[in-house]
Amino acid sequence: MTATRQICVRIRVRPFDAKDLNVLTTTDFTELGLIEPLTRALAAQDYIKPTPIQEKAIPQLLDNADLLGIAQTGSGKTAAFVLPILQHLTNDGFRPSPKGALALILAPTRELALQIGNSVKAYAKHLQIRHTVILGGVNQNPQVKALAKGVDVLIATPGRLLDLMEQGHVHLDDVEHLVLDEADRMLDMGFIHDVRKIVKAVPEERQTLLFSATMPKEVAKLANDILFAPVRIDIAPKTVTADRIEQRVIHVPAGKKGALLQDLLTDPSFYRVIVFTRTKHRANRVAKQLGQAGIEAAAIHGNKSQAARQRALDGFKANRLRVLVATDIAARGIDVDGVTHVINFELPNDTESYVHRIGRTARAGAEGMAYSFCDPAERTHLRGIERLIKRPIDVQDHDLSELAANQSQPERRPSKPKRKPQGKRPANSNGKPRRRRRNRKPAKAA
Ligand code: AMP
Repeated sequence: MTATRQICVRIRVRPFDAKDLNVLTTTDFTELGLIEPLTRALAAQDYIKPTPIQEKAIPQLLDNADLLGIAQTGSGKTAAFVLPILQHLTNDGFRPSPKGALALILAPTRELALQIGNSVKAYAKHLQIRHTVILGGVNQNPQVKALAKGVDVLIATPGRLLDLMEQGHVHLDDVEHLVLDEADRMLDMGFIHDVRKIVKAVPEERQTLLFSATMPKEVAKLANDILFAPVRIDIAPKTVTADRIEQRVIHVPAGKKGALLQDLLTDPSFYRVIVFTRTKHRANRVAKQLGQAGIEAAAIHGNKSQAARQRALDGFKANRLRVLVATDIAARGIDVDGVTHVINFELPNDTESYVHRIGRTARAGAEGMAYSFCDPAERTHLRGIERLIKRPIDVQDHDLSELAANQSQPERRPSKPKRKPQGKRPANSNGKPRRRRRNRKPAKAA
């Protein structure tokens, strides 16, 4: 099985914006091979034409292919996987055994699970399909009751599903179709091990679909382990950030960030640079450290007087200062053309701030670059940002071996006299019915 996993057909399609009907395809749902009770239900939902992911995925999934979908909410991905599954279940006519399920859809959050449940309900309106949603945070008894006779489609969050499996209220021996939705969020939320445990409990002979907006290493590995010769559909990301901004991330331990910054600044093309920190305190330290290294820099943040802020801004605009070190709030008002580089010394907690930050460069038609220094503790923030901008940020390898550690903590030097702090410091079956043995084939070229 491992050898054949290499076969992979890659289809790149445009993103679908539910508000923009122009990107809907010219195909009809009937042309995709969908049965009448489904097309009738879609008409009732006012779905006139398939979205690109639906057009590409549905015929392949009806043909039993596995699928790797790089797509996010808004692409129409839910119908892309729910419709073929409903059709398979209807055509096959199998019944689940007690406490069993024929199709399992895993979602990371309660909200997503409920949303998928609503979609299944709407699309299966004219079919004999039983479905249920199980999720944590609510009394399990109604869920146990719903599972007793078995269901055709089970939508679940991983934690509660494992819990009910362990208690013997549900088994996965009948599962023919397995969907992992928003796999990168599962990873962020710490569910990846639970997901692997669940997948192990599902028979190997099955159709598997995995969707993820981004493809971190662990998700790629999971996909490789559980998918069989998948068709890959990659929804080209919609650009939230300006196209002209080249974005890079450098993975670096926190203690080497100061040295890395100075190293980058040896390049004269870093001509007018804004460095972002999360705290005022860190902004002060970084600016001071740059000054000590002979690089003209000033900090700008809420604890500085208006006069000091203006002075720093004027100096930056007049090229007397090469680097402005800023916090997010202080930076909102900065409108300076010709900023060549934005450097995220620390990644913002709030992903939207990333877009605001890097938007300080590439203004007025110019080009710009944005670097993000990412230490191991910031990886979750990075994934959140990549999800927001709907694409991975290129990783730049930088030789860190020569860089001194802890340059960013000059206050630890014993020789410095104690000063009054300028601001607040940051707080720190079996009786089972038959199981169909599917003819597993590699994905067809699209
Ligand atoms: P999803 O990406 O699956 O969360 O879907 C995003 C939104 O688009 C949902 O509100 C769907 O009901 C809607 N949608 C999905 N497919 C279509 C379609 N072919 N035509 C119109 N709306 C659709």
